[in-house]
Amino acid sequence: MAGISTELIHGDDSIARVEDVVQPINVATTFRYPEDPEDLKVVTERGNKIIGFNYYSRLTHPHSEKVEKVLEELIFRDKHVVAYNSGLSAFFAMLTYLNPKRLAIGNGYHGCHGIANIFTRLTHLEQVDLEHLDSISKGDVIHLETPVNPEGVAFDIKKFADEAHKRGAYLVVDATFAPPPLQDPFAYGADIVMHSATKYFGGHSDLLAGLLVVKSLEIKELLVTDRLLLGTNIANLESFLLVRSLRTFELRILKQSSNAETLVKYLHDNISKYALLTDVYHSSLQTEPFVKQQLAHHSPTFSIEVADIDKARHLPSKLKYFHHATSLGGVESLIEWRLMSDAAVSPTLLRVSVGVENVEDLILDFDQALKSLE
Ligand SMILES: *Cc1c(COP(=O)(O)O)cnc(C)c1O
Repeated sequence: MAGISTELIHGDDSIARVEDVVQPINVATTFRYPEDPEDLKVVTERGNKIIGFNYYSRLTHPHSEKVEKVLEELIFRDKHVVAYNSGLSAFFAMLTYLNPKRLAIGNGYHGCHGIANIFTRLTHLEQVDLEHLDSISKGDVIHLETPVNPEGVAFDIKKFADEAHKRGAYLVVDATFAPPPLQDPFAYGADIVMHSATKYFGGHSDLLAGLLVVKSLEIKELLVTDRLLLGTNIANLESFLLVRSLRTFELRILKQSSNAETLVKYLHDNISKYALLTDVYHSSLQTEPFVKQQLAHHSPTFSIEVADIDKARHLPSKLKYFHHATSLGGVESLIEWRLMSDAAVSPTLLRVSVGVENVEDLILDFDQALKSLE
């Protein structure tokens, strides 16, 4: 197997449908059945099996298959990938498939809590936090987001995998903040890994997508059957854009990660220089041994805390190279006064998503912005 950056560009050459170096955008929702009557397999009798030809885009279409194949071959190697039309659709699909009686879930992304609350409304799903696992038993789910939103601080995957498995429960890891090659949750015991592909895999703030990564084809086939009925397959254009994004994935994620490590180190080392900067949160500042072991590189997303709400409200407007916007993972740096979109976080917290710009420019930008508010 060639290196990741080679495979990201050439790994799907063998399934190209036309000679075009970039495969054409495909918008069809329906596809002609095979011409030879002997090749006709009755679609309604497919059970949970993947049928091997496209017939309706709510089930599969050429680019959704390409996205899954590229990711399986290139990034997740021996695993199976199911693509969705958003990260939250992937989380919804995971809960629908596992249907636990109890869910242990930490702080993390607010939207996942919103979905868990829908399940509580519909099925009386019981929710506990990650510190209270005593009631977790067979068939339940521990959902671990790591590194966690918005701080970018890491949790010990192996510890939670052991906690889940000794109780007969599943460990699901939301690894959106640190996709491979930054972190491999399967190596530390995860049963299912989810990603909002809207973030680093997409990387250009122009597509919504989600992924579940599972260990067997049987599970993938059940998820694909649910996905057909829930109507949550990744869309045609989004999958075209996602394949485009994957070509540069390794370049982007490694550059974004090293930029973030450099910027975090600068802010942390110089915290006493800036009166209004009170805290910096990031896994690169954690000293527990598991962090070094489980994270090959750190997430490009971190958070800072400033002295008061008024400073938090004003800081984004002083930065030149960080757009004030939600989301993360794109090539352009972003900062968000997080209270704007998440009522559960500290009102003086700002989340920073580091892009691929020159890191010296990013440091100078923070320096002038922090000084300008003193
Ligand atoms: C963005 C995000 C999600 C939700 O993904 P969407 O693609 O926006 O639906 C879930 N988890 C984390 C950690 C995220 O950052």
